[in-house]
Order: sequence, then structure tokens, then C-alpha cells
Amino acid sequence: MEIKLHQITVKDIFNGYKDHGDDNGVVGYGSKLDIRPPYQRNFVYDLDQAKSVMNTVLNNFPLNVMYWVINGENSYEVLDGQQRTLSVMQFLDHKFPITWNGQTMYVDSLPDDLYDRVINYEFMIYWCEGTDSEKLNWFRTVNIAGEKLTDQELRNVAYVGPWLNDAKRHFSKRNCAAKKLADPYVKGDPNRQELLERALKWISEEKGIIIDEYMAQHRSNDDADELWQYWQDIIRWVQKIFPTYHNQMKGLDWGGFYSTYRKNKYNSTKLNVDIDNLLQDDEIKSTKGIWQYELTKDYEPNATRYLHLRTFSDADKHKKYKEQNGICPMCKAEGLNKTWKLSEMEGDHVIPWSKGGKTEYSNLEMLCKKHNESKGNR
Ligand SMILES: [Zn+2]
Repeated sequence: MEIKLHQITVKDIFNGYKDHGDDNGVVGYGSKLDIRPPYQRNFVYDLDQAKSVMNTVLNNFPLNVMYWVINGENSYEVLDGQQRTLSVMQFLDHKFPITWNGQTMYVDSLPDDLYDRVINYEFMIYWCEGTDSEKLNWFRTVNIAGEKLTDQELRNVAYVGPWLNDAKRHFSKRNCAAKKLADPYVKGDPNRQELLERALKWISEEKGIIIDEYMAQHRSNDDADELWQYWQDIIRWVQKIFPTYHNQMKGLDWGGFYSTYRKNKYNSTKLNVDIDNLLQDDEIKSTKGIWQYELTKDYEPNATRYLHLRTFSDADKHKKYKEQNGICPMCKAEGLNKTWKLSEMEGDHVIPWSKGGKTEYSNLEMLCKKHNESKGNR
């Protein structure tokens, strides 16, 4: 791992400058520098910021240090400093005017001394060279300042290759296929790589590894078809089992559910009737938990925990405790007349929720912890 500081003039960076349009990047520095590498293409250009950068340059004040990555001989890309570099380049490219001493001027009407000041201005740039994992660590460190990249954008810096290009084709454009298919079920902005990250998280979890490992294993693959198919499998499974859509379904851990429950058998007609009833049930505090409850209720003993059912208030429990004089009715039935402390007892639904019992005082009894647990699933 090597990091060296260079001072490079605006003139040298503007040499060979070319903007190839939205998705094709921007180059400079004798065409050797990628000013808008793929992971920064979603970056939003800000004209006010651009003018303030130009103001700094015209005053010959220092800009913060920038970072370039060395990708090979004569091949560099801007890791940090894209907005600042683009601001100066675009001004020189006649894209916007500056205001200087009350005059608004494009580059071609700048007086010579000001023009010279701009093109001879020096950027302070760290060049970084190293292995992929060294670069990734370094990106994470420098990313504290400047245009902030998300974790997934940083991974995309490190694991470039044909696999990533294909993955981004499916997951990273505003109207990408992954978004179109999964939008009702999955939250996330494809531009910020949130759908790609979600897909990678789900497939990595299924394989028991982390996202970085998955990307490292696949980066040289010709395409990302495995990931794309896995995504479709998840969403089609959801659509099959829960054919009626409800808004609460957006953002649930569908990949996790698919991974854990897909071998179970479900009757989608019955599930739908159940869900309609549960959505009306005001004993349920977490309606988002209804879908996981439906997936687990025949397979897990304590599936009601996903519903966050209402519980009795401390005031009600205290009142009932006094009424029972600290005696557990189930202990009493077994011939044990022990007096429990309030902290040793729990509020129990006489008629359980699953049989239509409500969280009302008339349906409350205090049981010792042992008997409450033995009564188990409400
Ligand atoms: Zn008891």
C-alpha cells in the first residue's frame, strides 16, 4: 500500500477533458483520469457549490486535499474530489459563468491574469496504490470527508469487473428490472445501490457468508445471473403465497423468510382469509408481524411473538394481584397455597387471544411464572 502526495495543475487535468454524457463518464488528465467513475455516477452536481469552488480558485485559496486511485499504468480515478474537480473543469468547458467584482463572466471573457490563475491553480492530490482489500480499507477511511459513499458504493469500488456491471444492469438503475419486480415488497433506492445491497445481503445470508465475501467470490464471473435469479425466486415466492397485496408488506425481510420457510407448505387461500381477520384485530400492536406469524404459526410454538399482542397494564396486574391475595389459582388447584410476590407473578389471559380472549380486566388472572409458562402459547 502506497500513498503519495502530488500537486497537479488545473491545466494538466483539463488536458484531454471530455464529458461523455450521463452514463459514460468524464475523463481528463490526458484521458488517463476517470473523473466520474461508475460508483459516483449518481452523484448530484450542485451549481452553487460549483460557483463557490471557482471562487476559492480565483482567490487562490486552498481546496481540501483530494484522492485518486491508481488502477494501472496511466489509469487513475477520482475517489474523493469529484465535485471540486468537475466544477473547475465545467467552468473551463464554458458550462456556467462566475461572478467576479460584480461582473458575470464565462471562461472566454475572463481577463488573462484571472484565466492564468485558474489554469495554473494546483490541486493537492493523494495517489493511492494497493491491493483491492487495501484500497477498500482506505476508501472507508477517506470517505469520512467529501462526497459520502454508502457501504455498498464502497464495495462497488473494490469489486469491479464483468459480474458487477451485470449486477448493476439489473439492480442499480432508476427503472431497473429488480425495482420493477420488487417495488411493492422492498424499500430502497437503486441509484444509491440499496437494492443491490439488499439482494446481496439476502443471497449472502442464505450462503452463510458476508456481502464482501460473496462479491469477492463472484467478481470475475461473466454475469450476475445467480443473484438476479435468486431475487426473482424470492419475489415470486411471496406473490404465490400472499397473492393479496397489503401496504404493510413493503420492507419486510422477504429474503430471510424465503431462506427460512420456503420448504414449508402453505395454503394461500387460507392465509389470505386469516390475514384479513388479523388486520382487523386491535389486540395486535404490530400488523407488520402478521406475515411472519402466518409463515410460522404451524411450525413454531411461540409464533404470536411476531404480533406484539397487547399486554395487561401494571395497574391492572397490581389490582388483580391484591384481589387474589398473591395466590396462583393453578397452584391452589394442585394443593399448594403459597403466597407469591407481585414480581413472581405474571398477567395471563383466562381465554387466550387465539380463542378470542381480549386484553381486558375481566379476562385477567395472575399466575406464578411457572404456571404462566406452562400455559404457554396464548
Ligand atoms: Zn402457580
